[in-house]
Amino acid sequence: MDCLFCKIIAGEIPSTKIYEDDKILAFRDINPQAPAHILVIPKEHIGGVDELNSENVAIVSHIFAKIAEIAKNEGLEKGYRVVSNVGEHGCQSVRHLHFHILGGSQLNGSMV
Ligand code: 5GP
Ligand code: ZN
Repeated sequence: MDCLFCKIIAGEIPSTKIYEDDKILAFRDINPQAPAHILVIPKEHIGGVDELNSENVAIVSHIFAKIAEIAKNEGLEKGYRVVSNVGEHGCQSVRHLHFHILGGSQLNGSMV
């Protein structure tokens, strides 16, 4: 499958890894939108939030537990934002489920 994030998981494309286990990978976004900008992805290829279902959704719970740990380790005690863009209207550019962790400075109050 021609998926950028599957290639990052496979090590075919280098990334700055923050956390990895058998199910998920967290790495720094190549084009950071905030002082801390980390992507957290499942190793299983899921296209996006719109492909979640009762069979595969458990990974999201694991991802969010690790997001809390990663944010603490990154020193984001003043807060951060977790974002998942979905599809065309959501401006999703990589069709592999990912959660952005954005923080390290005061974020814009507008969500869009
Ligand atoms: P999306 O727009 O799909 O919500 O987010 C995709 C993110 O992946 C973007 O923030 C983009 O900067 C990041 N990205 C795209 N290609 C690469 C890459 O090769 N390496 C890393 N680390 N991030 C990437
Ligand atoms: Zn993929």
